[in-house]
Amino acid sequence: MTFKATFLFLAAAGMVLGAAPSAHGFCRTMTGREPGDSDQTNRCSSWKEQEQNACCPYGKPLFWRNACVGFSLQKNASRQVSLSDAERVFKRAFGTWTATTCSLNGTPVGRVSMDVSYLGAVECNKVEFNDDAPNQNVIIFRDSGWTHLDPSATLGLTTVRYDTDTGEISGADMEINGAQSKPLSVSDAPPAGAVDLLSIATHEAGHFLGFAHSTVADATMYATYFGVGMRDLSPDDSTGICNVYKPDQNHGTGDGLVRASTCDPTPAHGYMTTCADNLSIEGGGCAVPPSRSDSSVLTAVWSVLSALSLLLLRRLRTARAVRRDIDGR
Ligand SMILES: [Zn+2]
Repeated sequence: MTFKATFLFLAAAGMVLGAAPSAHGFCRTMTGREPGDSDQTNRCSSWKEQEQNACCPYGKPLFWRNACVGFSLQKNASRQVSLSDAERVFKRAFGTWTATTCSLNGTPVGRVSMDVSYLGAVECNKVEFNDDAPNQNVIIFRDSGWTHLDPSATLGLTTVRYDTDTGEISGADMEINGAQSKPLSVSDAPPAGAVDLLSIATHEAGHFLGFAHSTVADATMYATYFGVGMRDLSPDDSTGICNVYKPDQNHGTGDGLVRASTCDPTPAHGYMTTCADNLSIEGGGCAVPPSRSDSSVLTAVWSVLSALSLLLLRRLRTARAVRRDIDGR
């Protein structure tokens, strides 16, 4: 019997946890749960990397074992963005990560060992993961309302399903907030006042691949939107993807390196285009309460947010100035 402990973690008010932070750049999403933890609390759920200037240290880092992962788009896309434009944008966003060439001591050693392929448009418009049915890793535009936290300041949210013992990811879904006040742009040069979908997509793709927010202010994985500069990976993001999905086909886990599985982008338990509704976390609630059973398999759902607001943009400028000064950049 599968022990299913389901959590939904949304961005919460900053809470300083007790561990001594260490300076870092890119951060991986962590299980937030140590082996001896008796409850189901994710100790990283309220960790804010840019405020701590450190990655959350609890548990094991998340990773995909597969060499290939598939994603789909919800067929209706958005009132603001056609399906074909969305396909183009998200293919490019994932491709930005997976095309990264890694170097060792300045010498290129090859491309990262991860591909993300587009499997097509799907009917399902829910964030769900099915333990007993096929799945889809779907990207959904939320045009008619954002039911997660901070609807006016949030641009996207990626929900990753992973094993809380190992950190292995089994599924990921992405939601884009089309209901916030700033128009979504798919132009090469977004007009003033609009937000760049490709930047949002590239950031959320990093979450999809298992990364948390970076402490580096010009990184794509910085928590605060800063425009088209997020379309391309910073050296910090590139270091991150190369560190986890190594060119030699090994993927970095909390238990050492694991050889990537043969390329197969089929989602867990097969691919289907409709929802199965075994687990729906749409609306931000826990659909499956934690419960005890006799299995050692623990799975959990984790969500991460990226946010946009004028207040945050001002804070970003301050943070950048301070950090540039400290780093001498
Ligand atoms: Zn984010």
